Amino acid sequence: MTDPTTIDRLTGETVELLSALIQNQCVNDGRPESGEEDRSARLLRDELEGTGVDMEMYEPMPGRTSLIARLPGTDPDAPNLCLMGHTDVVPVSPDGWDRDPFGGELVGDPNSGAAEIWGRGAVDMLNLTASMAVAFRHLATSGTRYAGDIIYFAVADEEAGGTHGAEVLVRDEWDALKCDYVLTEFGGMAYNNAAGQTLLVTTAEKGLGWRRLRVKGKPGHGSAPLNADNALIKAAEVVRRLSEYRPAARLDELWGAKIAALGLPEDLHRRLLDPAAVMDAIAELPRGIQANVHSCSHTTFSPNVIHGGVKTNVIPDIVDVEVDIRTVPGETHEDVMAHLQAALGDLFNHVEVEILQENISTASPTGGPLWGALTDAMHVAYPEAAIIPSLVTGGTDARFFREQGAVAYGAGLLSTRVDVGEFFRRFHGHNERIDVDSLRLTTQLWLDVVNGLWD
Ligand SMILES: [Zn+2]
Repeated sequence: MTDPTTIDRLTGETVELLSALIQNQCVNDGRPESGEEDRSARLLRDELEGTGVDMEMYEPMPGRTSLIARLPGTDPDAPNLCLMGHTDVVPVSPDGWDRDPFGGELVGDPNSGAAEIWGRGAVDMLNLTASMAVAFRHLATSGTRYAGDIIYFAVADEEAGGTHGAEVLVRDEWDALKCDYVLTEFGGMAYNNAAGQTLLVTTAEKGLGWRRLRVKGKPGHGSAPLNADNALIKAAEVVRRLSEYRPAARLDELWGAKIAALGLPEDLHRRLLDPAAVMDAIAELPRGIQANVHSCSHTTFSPNVIHGGVKTNVIPDIVDVEVDIRTVPGETHEDVMAHLQAALGDLFNHVEVEILQENISTASPTGGPLWGALTDAMHVAYPEAAIIPSLVTGGTDARFFREQGAVAYGAGLLSTRVDVGEFFRRFHGHNERIDVDSLRLTTQLWLDVVNGLWD
């Protein structure tokens, strides 16, 4: 274990680095030229300069730079560990914020663990990216050698699906990234309830089945709409049907573990495990966790973008509706099409379906050496906690590594100051921020995992 004075110093470094990463404003709005992660890749390279680690920058697209740093191990046959953090963040609506979303301000008594760093990326996931860099630098300069290689991977473009980041680099630069174990976002939320204390570790993620639905009609004069075949009116009905569609629940082992961790009254617990009763039971949960719990048990459909129409006096013949579809484990493109057919009914034949993103759900098993080292390290902070494998509803870059056979978990460690529902709302939400104690716990976590992994 690392001594408290060292952890204090490293926590201070994590706070500073997180603040600088927030200020870099690597906002990824989905356009290939957005993100500009080059700024943070260079910042992180400079942080690691002089430590003797091997470093390489990759720029598959101008400005979309990722950094791979490697601390070689002593045993070429030992498994390698990759600490992966993305450097991009999602856009903000500044009006909803109480502070500058890109200020990276430390708010509160700077000597208190309750002080908070504010800004876009504070929980998704610059907190982890920063703490991983600080831990990695400490490991590189500590003089201790480990059996396996340790890789620090600061990756661009996670927020738009990894096209210019993990996806292309895992495909084209696997020699540089090759690893057996990956730690990335996110985990370590502490629940305290009737079941005792539990911590979640992400071991699986839902699939992405983003689709563009092109709704067709016939153009005409806007002054004579009676009996018109108006694509916008049909699209409105498509959207309405999607919002009302209720696919069957998938209540698997991960679901059972998640529900058990909530420590609910017996009757509610039982109904949450019953496919016929689960939707009504979810409505009885605390409002802050309903959406997450629902998404963990169902394929979801969120129509989020609409484009259509050319002029106020022209009846539109084409309207595009983009739907964020997230599939439960086991579902493929055929299942997505079957869902759309069931949801849209007779309108399905008026719609052309285009694939925008297609990744099936992925999972890593628990019980191996990384699971052991990670749970031991989490127990340093929370000795009594039950550690629960969990499904994350959003996509992460872990999926590209799982497809290569690596075991990948979403980890981190939060202080009990952060309510779990509130923590989830900060993801892509207003007033995103993280307390210093959580940064301390997370910085220490990476060190403890490394120190336990090759024992
Ligand atoms: Zn993220």
